Amino acid sequence: MLRLSHLTIILVVLFGGLLGCSEQQQSAIKEAGEQQRFKWKLVTTWPKNYPGLGMAPERFAQQVERMSAGRLSIKVFGAKELVPAMQAFEAVQQGTAEMSHGGAYYWRGKVPTGPFFAAIPFGMTAQEMSAWLHYGGGMELWREAYAPFNLIPLAGGNTGVQMAGWFNKEINSVDDLKGLKMRIPGLGGEVLDRLGGAAENMPGSELFTSLQTRRIDATEWVGPYNDLAFGLHKAAKYYYYPGWQEPGPTLEFTVNKDAWESLPDDLQAIVEVAARAVHQDTLDEFTAKNNSALQTLIEEHGVELRRLPDEVLLALREASEEVVQEFARSSEFAGRVYASWSSFKDDVQNWHEISEEAFSEARRLRKE
Ligand code: CA
Repeated sequence: MLRLSHLTIILVVLFGGLLGCSEQQQSAIKEAGEQQRFKWKLVTTWPKNYPGLGMAPERFAQQVERMSAGRLSIKVFGAKELVPAMQAFEAVQQGTAEMSHGGAYYWRGKVPTGPFFAAIPFGMTAQEMSAWLHYGGGMELWREAYAPFNLIPLAGGNTGVQMAGWFNKEINSVDDLKGLKMRIPGLGGEVLDRLGGAAENMPGSELFTSLQTRRIDATEWVGPYNDLAFGLHKAAKYYYYPGWQEPGPTLEFTVNKDAWESLPDDLQAIVEVAARAVHQDTLDEFTAKNNSALQTLIEEHGVELRRLPDEVLLALREASEEVVQEFARSSEFAGRVYASWSSFKDDVQNWHEISEEAFSEARRLRKE
């Protein structure tokens, strides 16, 4: 029905243009576009209404509904409700759903550069990633990466620096990583493999059971707020930081390109603005809730908080640089993405050393 009425509008515009469309006719066409109603489906890689990650698409849909006065109505499906978590990308590509919410590194099999648009080990923080995407050329490259799949990406949130994860083995040296079976997606997994570990990926819903039954020795997930919601503290002993593997992972919305092009300009703007608002809102939520969740984990559940030793962090950083640089040589496009990403990262890191980081240090100064 939508397509048919669209076709009608296109034909009217074409013939109207040929025959010299009157102002009255043109405003009638515009009005038809403004009154058209759209019902979309949005699939996610998260459980329905999951705190933080799963609430981002819910809030997005609510904002779009309000701003468009119901002209664009989006129904959000949790993982497995319409398609399994790891088929969200394909579902939008094929038009089963018009949108998805997830993370670009989940689709590495299809989009090898995906991790650059989600998280790179020892890469950029939330603030830096968002700056690269929106003001440093990152978004143009992301669109280019998704174009062959008939998809348009939009940034859809950020968790901030994650935790290194939950471990049932102590990590005191690089040797302790050898043979470590850990759920860790993206390039972080490759880094762990390089140091002798055995990385794997699985959706969040499978983490608790896999950890509890000792099928895996460790898992990273997000941070205190989301980890507490999954009860991971009941399945592992040690909670390690910092999240070297995901310093500022960006979440994503994808939009089916045909569905996008069927929207009038004002609804496209509403989708873009709602996505941008949710992108910031999600980081605000994580920042506010992580600290209180961490207190609960330590004080009420007796979780042992541990910092990864310097020796381990240095080895992970060295291996990360190797993995990322090798990856940059894998294709012409990967090379271009890496060049843009790394030059932005170097510059912003210099700036943040004398701004964010210098201020954090100043805030911690104590008199001798
Ligand atoms: Ca993670």
